[in-house]
Amino acid sequence: MTEKLLHIALRIYDAQKELSAPDAELLQEAKAALSKSYSPYSKFEVGAAVRLVNGAVLSGANQENAAYPMCLCAEQVTLATAASLHPGVAIESIAITVRSQLKTITEPASPCGACRQVLCETESRHQHSIRVILQGETGQIFTLERAGDLMPLSFDGSFLE
Ligand SMILES: [Zn+2]
Repeated sequence: MTEKLLHIALRIYDAQKELSAPDAELLQEAKAALSKSYSPYSKFEVGAAVRLVNGAVLSGANQENAAYPMCLCAEQVTLATAASLHPGVAIESIAITVRSQLKTITEPASPCGACRQVLCETESRHQHSIRVILQGETGQIFTLERAGDLMPLSFDGSFLE
């Protein structure tokens, strides 16, 4: 038997002013995108913003549906928008933030498992790591250098070759 420890590097910042200017700007874009959320059922708004390697910045928000399984996550809305408007262009970074109409969220909310899988696929597709910036409505900010760090031992296309 062998035990293997998996390591991820998570950077924790106490305030937005500690971030680099590009990261702070992208987080602001994600917060602005909260206004695009359609979340009448959960009252849980999610905003995401991506910066592409060509410098373009795009954002999106979660879109709910009365048929719950049809709800779209902000991350996937934004990544699909980027792939549609800038096909073949790698994503450099993604900022994700949340706001609830029911309570103040003071911790970063990580992407759901499905979004982690899509982020991993996007990194693999472009052979380019995606920096992740996470913050709740207030509180600390987490950053990771690779979205894949959120999903160790992930399934990828190499299994299908
Ligand atoms: Zn999701």
